[in-house]
Amino acid sequence: MDDIIEIGEGEHLDIELELDFLKENERLARENRDYLKEKGIKAIDVMGSVGSGKTTLIENMVKKLKGKYRIGVIAGDLTTTIDRDRLAPLDIETVQVNTGKECHLDARVIRKALQKFEDVDLLFIENVGNLICPIDFPLGAETRMVVISVTEGAYTPLKHPYIFLGSDLAIINKIDLAQAVEISMDSIEKDIRKVKPGMKIVRTNCKRGEGIKEAIEALDL
Ligand code: MG
Ligand code: ZN
Repeated sequence: MDDIIEIGEGEHLDIELELDFLKENERLARENRDYLKEKGIKAIDVMGSVGSGKTTLIENMVKKLKGKYRIGVIAGDLTTTIDRDRLAPLDIETVQVNTGKECHLDARVIRKALQKFEDVDLLFIENVGNLICPIDFPLGAETRMVVISVTEGAYTPLKHPYIFLGSDLAIINKIDLAQAVEISMDSIEKDIRKVKPGMKIVRTNCKRGEGIKEAIEALDL
């Protein structure tokens, strides 16, 4: 018995609607990209699950890069300001975007957020915690990265191939816990490269600040 149902292209119930708004998002993302370029702002879209370590990574990179760049952060979340409040003491420009029930940021909301910044040349955009739809909604950032942690299990790269395919850099965080959860770092890296050959990968322990220098280098900052 063939017991696998695969939903083919064009078979999603809301496909026409979806194609329309994806196209509109791409148009707005191109506008954002032009705007960012014109203003000389380098933007990085940081994606990953809730609890993978996106905020901690950004926090650590900000501390190391503050002398070199005027940094801004857009913190995306459904309803809370937890991440923005954590970053605020770093004395950088921050804008909170609360998406309500929306599970990703989109180019339209980023366009609005960009107007709030006064003087930045490096912008981290922390996307809503989610490994699925953010990748379908480019924001206009020139670099996209995905942060996963070993505690999410061994199969994240194979189960979420699209977010890896669409990212320029993958961070594997919480490497200090790999042994405790019996995860092989080498096999996670192998799986990522199975999905996207040649992918840049950096291992971090963001809590302790390990691998931050390497992540900064991988982003050419
Ligand atoms: Mg966060
Ligand atoms: Zn979504």
